[in-house]
Amino acid sequence: MSHNKVVILGSGPAGLTAAIYAGRANLNPVVLAGHVPGGQLTITTDVENFPGYPKGVQGPDMMDDLRLQAERFGADIRNSHVVDVRFGDPHVMELEGGEIVETAALVIATGASAKWLGLKNEKSLLGRGVSACATCDGFFFKDRVVAVVGGGDTAMEEALFLTKFASRVLLIHRREEFRASQIMQDRVLSNDKIEVVWNTVVTDVLSSNGEAVEGVSVKDVLTDYSREIQVGGLFIAIGHSPNTDIFLGKMDMDSEGYIKVVGPGTQTTVPGVFVSGDAADNVYRQAITAAGTGCMAAIDAERWLAENE
Ligand SMILES: Cc1cc2nc3c(=O)[nH]c(=O)nc-3n(C[C@H](O)[C@H](O)[C@H](O)COP(=O)(O)OP(=O)(O)OC[C@H]3O[C@@H](n4cnc5c(N)ncnc54)[C@H](O)[C@@H]3O)c2cc1C
Repeated sequence: MSHNKVVILGSGPAGLTAAIYAGRANLNPVVLAGHVPGGQLTITTDVENFPGYPKGVQGPDMMDDLRLQAERFGADIRNSHVVDVRFGDPHVMELEGGEIVETAALVIATGASAKWLGLKNEKSLLGRGVSACATCDGFFFKDRVVAVVGGGDTAMEEALFLTKFASRVLLIHRREEFRASQIMQDRVLSNDKIEVVWNTVVTDVLSSNGEAVEGVSVKDVLTDYSREIQVGGLFIAIGHSPNTDIFLGKMDMDSEGYIKVVGPGTQTTVPGVFVSGDAADNVYRQAITAAGTGCMAAIDAERWLAENE
């Protein structure tokens, strides 16, 4: 069993930024990196919107840089996944394999996972034309035809955002009406660049070389008629799930499982437990906002320890 001042759950931009700050505050943070060391950016290619990289950077390279920076200040980064948490004094975590880790202050940075369609090529073409983030990747599709899948507000936002770059946006939806808010539907339906493909599901992503998306196979759910459509990009906008199951019933969350903060900082409803990044953010979901709240969580934890230890 190890007892620590600060443990950080997660090694994405939020967790590693928290580790840099906690390390520089001499708190000797332990980072439990989880099943995806480096977080979501390790499954993408070009990241062009993180400040400090004028030529852009590959997602995995950026996360290696953050990891090295955190280790430089003494962060102990372990490839461990937490399976259970008991809040108290101290907070107690059980790792896969049964090891127990205790901590006075805890920073949750467990992120979120985009929901995928489950298509054969979908994951291998991530960052090569398949995306779950128009804000991140829309810029790469100037004057291309792209498809967006979904029928909620996120899909409407993604489709509208993509009209700034793409020559045409096909919004593919499996039903004959959207569940998005009326105002977002109205914006989409009145936009000349967006064409809605109703009652249709995507059944495959097409790529002859595995390097770039060339089209999608779709099926009309009313007629079973299948066809191929040429597109240069496929944006999947069917939602995200925060990775917060281990905290269910133990702290306040919204109806989708995003952890709630108390007040303007990162303090959760459990004393000494702070949250950062996508685990608490259903709105921005960017590496820079995750890093920003990771910094806030480390400073909040440091101040809480100073007042309570
Ligand atoms: C394909 C793709 C491309 C993207 N491109 C961009 C981009 O270009 N620019 C941009 O700003 N954003 C981009 N994003 C969004 C960005 O990746 C996220 O906003 C950001 O990674 C969130 O950081 P985070 O630290 O909150 O969580 P994540 O990056 O999701 O990391 C979560 C971490 O928590 C760990 N974890 C989870 N559960 C546990 C547990 N039980 N125990 C221990 N550890 C656990 C995981 O192993 C992981 O290390 C992209 C996202 C995707 C999916």
